[in-house]
Amino acid sequence: MRKDVRKFGTSDKRGRSSTNADPFLPHEGTKEGSLCTSCNAGYHQKRWTTDVDICRQLQAQSAPHRVICPACQKIAANYPEGIVTLTGSYLWEHEAEIQQILKNEESKAFARNPQERIIRMTKGDGRLIIETTEEKLAEHLGRVLHRSHRGELKINWTGNPEICRVSWERML
Ligand SMILES: [Zn+2]
Repeated sequence: MRKDVRKFGTSDKRGRSSTNADPFLPHEGTKEGSLCTSCNAGYHQKRWTTDVDICRQLQAQSAPHRVICPACQKIAANYPEGIVTLTGSYLWEHEAEIQQILKNEESKAFARNPQERIIRMTKGDGRLIIETTEEKLAEHLGRVLHRSHRGELKINWTGNPEICRVSWERML
């Protein structure tokens, strides 16, 4: 059964034909030594990094290849691959603390892998929604919250490209 295939634009052709997930990963791959003009991450040994020494070296190249990294493209296009929905009265009583946990986890994730980022947090209808560039970050945020504040956690993976939907609720 095909459920919840992500539509991007008006046609769902890409969702059907593409077996390989991420529309923001260029087919030809990213050039070694590329630098993101938006977040300053550098591409080194097939991964994005914020390592200060590596990024400094990359910036010192005679003609650095300047690109927008996939995470910055997803943020600009508002294209989440992870969606965390928080609900319950407990959330609003501990909102500041919970927001702080989410922000701390985002900074840690960014240091580890600059492709893992929070796109935005929105509040409304009794829910706090956190959208992330990578599925794994959404799952991680849910698990951290569950560990530190218990509550009820549900994690669902759907679609192609895969989206991780996490819901967490605590009433009291
Ligand atoms: Zn970037």
